[in-house]
Amino acid sequence: MTDNKKTIFILQKIGEKIEEQKDYLTELDQPIGDSDHGINLARGFKAVSEKLATVQDKDIGTILKTAGMALVSTVGGASGPLYGSAYMKMGMALNGKTEIGMDDFLKGMDTAVEAVMQRGKAVAEEATMLDAMLPAVAAMKEAAAQGADAKAVLEAGCRASWAGAEHTKDLVATKGRASYVGERGLGHQDPGATSFSFMLETVKDCL
Ligand code: ADP
Ligand code: MG
Repeated sequence: MTDNKKTIFILQKIGEKIEEQKDYLTELDQPIGDSDHGINLARGFKAVSEKLATVQDKDIGTILKTAGMALVSTVGGASGPLYGSAYMKMGMALNGKTEIGMDDFLKGMDTAVEAVMQRGKAVAEEATMLDAMLPAVAAMKEAAAQGADAKAVLEAGCRASWAGAEHTKDLVATKGRASYVGERGLGHQDPGATSFSFMLETVKDCL
């Protein structure tokens, strides 16, 4: 399978994973938010899946940008513009590419994290998706620098991502809707950190 076909395949699998975890993600959003994270993302990825049919033969950058635009235009909640810009900016970083190596993937992930930070104005330890993304990207870079193969890099990323998601239980949210509940949010895992971990896990499982 060519890398652009593989990108489409992975995006479709992410959509399936989100659909499968929709109720769980929505439940996580209940105590600290408005019970819609799973619903939001499932709607977004359904739109992504429909759009992918139009970019079957395009480069990886175009595929990711198309996915990002579909998310921005169909997801009402905060996660839509955040994940939407992440996928769009990752697409811009991989513009024109029909093959992708670990260096490209990590560069794309860096750009995705930057996009979320720029759009949401959050930093580490504010109980958002960034608390999964930042440690995951750091762990993947470290594993890659030590010469790990793609599967091992992704495994290290997933471990760090899930640990980061778990750690959001100890954090008081200061950004987004969860900031309204303040300390009552303690003990609850952030839905966005969880959905990101599911996305990365899907990438790992597709390798
Ligand atoms: P909404 O909060 O508008 O209902 P969702 O429920 O779909 O949107 O998404 C909530 C998730 O979005 C949170 O769990 C958190 O991970 C993420 N999030 C919210 N605000 C920010 C922000 N400013 N920066 C990064 N991530 C954020
Ligand atoms: Mg919500």
